[in-house]
Amino acid sequence: MKKRTHKYIFVVGGVMSGVGKGITTSSIGALLQAKGFGVNLLKVDPYLNVDAGTMNPTEHGEVFVLNSGLETDQDMGNYERFLNRDLTGDDYITSGMVYKHVIEAERALKYGGHCVEAIPHIRDEIIHRFEKSAKANKSDITVVEIGGTVGDYQNIMFIEAARVMKVKYPNDVAFVMVSFMPVPHTLGEMKSKPTQNALRQLNSYGVNADIIIARSETPMDHKRKEKIAVSCSLPVENIISAPDIESVFDVPINFEKDNISKILLKLLHLREKKNTPGIVEWIKFANSVKNTKDTVDIAIVGKYFNTGDFVLTDAYVSVLEAIKYSAYKLGRKAKIHTVNSRDFEKADLKASDFKVLDKYDGIIVPGGFGESGIEGKLAVIKYAREKKIPYFGLCYGMQLMVIEYARNVLGLKDANTAEINVNSNSLVIDIMPDQKKKLEELNYGGSMRLGSYNAHIEKGTVAYEAYKQEIVQERHRHRYEVNPEFIKKITDAGLVFSGKSPNGVLMEIAELPKKVHPFFLGTQFHPEFLARPLAPHPLFTEFIREAIHPRKFLPMKKSKS
Ligand code: GLN
Repeated sequence: MKKRTHKYIFVVGGVMSGVGKGITTSSIGALLQAKGFGVNLLKVDPYLNVDAGTMNPTEHGEVFVLNSGLETDQDMGNYERFLNRDLTGDDYITSGMVYKHVIEAERALKYGGHCVEAIPHIRDEIIHRFEKSAKANKSDITVVEIGGTVGDYQNIMFIEAARVMKVKYPNDVAFVMVSFMPVPHTLGEMKSKPTQNALRQLNSYGVNADIIIARSETPMDHKRKEKIAVSCSLPVENIISAPDIESVFDVPINFEKDNISKILLKLLHLREKKNTPGIVEWIKFANSVKNTKDTVDIAIVGKYFNTGDFVLTDAYVSVLEAIKYSAYKLGRKAKIHTVNSRDFEKADLKASDFKVLDKYDGIIVPGGFGESGIEGKLAVIKYAREKKIPYFGLCYGMQLMVIEYARNVLGLKDANTAEINVNSNSLVIDIMPDQKKKLEELNYGGSMRLGSYNAHIEKGTVAYEAYKQEIVQERHRHRYEVNPEFIKKITDAGLVFSGKSPNGVLMEIAELPKKVHPFFLGTQFHPEFLARPLAPHPLFTEFIREAIHPRKFLPMKKSKS
């Protein structure tokens, strides 16, 4: 029998960045998967950072963590959400990773005395990694998104590697260029010249695009498509119109209107399969996104929102998405409000200033690092606890919840985390010994407790009510932990550790019992990384359920009507 060959699709960007290459890649993946093929999605980030872990979230957005513990770009989150499955540590490549590997191999005399150069050594290492990701996933098709735009210096080596892949496997490789068609207001007409130029640039690398995704404000008519098709030497069907739409979840549905999966299968010499699942479930979900009217108001209290005059929520994408999916599941549209924690730590703060929080049905304190904005977060958590506003703490949000409880319920006034004040007498959150050593060695990159670990869930708790199972796997990214020395004191005072590491040493979930508070729960891990449109995360769903119901009966809400 003839050996089945693996297929690759390379997605590159033309004209400019920020026009949706990530969502295009995710959508292509979701569509081919729905046609019955095993698909993995691979992101190439051309920067020299070895991983995304050391980057500032205000600048670069969220650091997304895979099961393997690799700290990656937020696009990986979109990939997993669209595919509704976990990806591997081989599905993310940076220039830093590739160069580090090649340079270390050179130092170890692995190149037998040869001169080590970008071509062939860097290029071949990239090719090796493309092939490795295909093997690791045991998939049929790998869709590779090459970060940046055609014409950048940084991604040339990756495009070169993709070109060689096409030479190596002529029938198994396709190129998709995501381009942008501006409509200058003064002209009122869609212009295709920037796309032609981008394609020419791509051609100068020896690569041609097989499909052009034409991003534009409005849908593209046949005449425009013909014009682009002729100038790009492509059949008109291979120009896919991708107008701005209300929700990203409509992108795959929209692409399918232009038969993208059929065209791709043809380009890859793959035959359509019979009786494949299709995107029925996806369409159902996308419709609920459009048709849900009732709302639930959730506040995210963080500090990575402001860059200059802009408010960005990029640092918390997975949290936002997780909230939305659970809300849709419960028939609500989540209205998410960004609250800057620093607003709650001004010197002249009055008790009445907290009243603004009453309008939210639920409050989340997400993950974070360092000292700034912390006292504000603690003040908000105290308010949520006392006013019985559903509260969900994620990682730092759980650690701060424990600190707040220690300070205001146990009376340990100087309770703190070693991250902020090592001199506190009540370090309820402390650094793990192995982590301490890493920091002393200035070993910051990829050195936290990262990736998927098991947690044991205590029966009869809020957490168990949500998960309905005793062992769960969740993704982590932290250096500090609940200090074992304080666990007895804290639990005696009423806070329950309902999730623990299997050996019982690390506290994974803290909560107040239902009879005390409708939902006051924090996780040392990041449940948001596992929330998917078609599989919302049970803890988020439980939180939103409480946010929707009990708040309705609180007097302060009633008095408004
Ligand atoms: N800064 C905290 C720690 O390192 C929490 C990290 C996080 O929220 N991701 O433990």
